[in-house]
Amino acid sequence: MASLINKDKFYASFYGLAIGDALGVPVEFMTREELSLNPVTDMRESGSHLQPKGTWSDDTSMSLATLSVFSQKHFSYHQICDEFVNWYQCAKFTPHNETFDIGDTTRQALHRYLTGTPPLECGLNEESSNGNGSLMRMLPVLHFIYLEYWENNDRIMPFAREFIYNLSALTHAHELSKMACLYYVYIGGYILKYADTMILPEIIEKAIRDIDQYYHQNYEDIIIYKYMQSKNLLTSLSLTKN
Ligand SMILES: [Mg+2]
Repeated sequence: MASLINKDKFYASFYGLAIGDALGVPVEFMTREELSLNPVTDMRESGSHLQPKGTWSDDTSMSLATLSVFSQKHFSYHQICDEFVNWYQCAKFTPHNETFDIGDTTRQALHRYLTGTPPLECGLNEESSNGNGSLMRMLPVLHFIYLEYWENNDRIMPFAREFIYNLSALTHAHELSKMACLYYVYIGGYILKYADTMILPEIIEKAIRDIDQYYHQNYEDIIIYKYMQSKNLLTSLSLTKN
């Protein structure tokens, strides 16, 4: 995959993910007020998970697990779940051979997989099961979608959207989690495509405007759209909503 896209952007995005993740690990679960009094300005050790400086967490590990599967010529959702399990049970893709944190929804989904549930039925779909557990591992999905489907087309084609939804549903199957992943891929794809010609706020605005327009135009997504409207989520997400 890396040989066919801008290598600098590809590696920079993964380095950025791992560095940002590692900066946050020692202060995970701290409140905004606590952090405003003691802001993170460099790598820290110990903290919330008692880890050495520079330790990344589940975000990066599960992204690397997904990337390792995408790197193969043919892959399946089973393979991705297998690598998630390798991370969870065997500490694969971790910097110090230790899996020190896993979200509740992800843990439940992987246990369902381990007891024979098909991959696409493993994710929980209750509203209370929402979290950032699928969103945090979407970076390789962004690169894959951009490379395979999007480089010359602003619209994510329906099967690409289904692919994003399915990858979220391996652990997080509620519409809100799946839609958050779609927004991430859209915004990330637009950054890859337009970073040399537009400033970041304009790129994000364009991505959100286009995806809003897309959701207005597709009947099958109206239920999701109404759900987000009912929760006032669109007003906080959309910069140009009328
Ligand atoms: Mg994490």
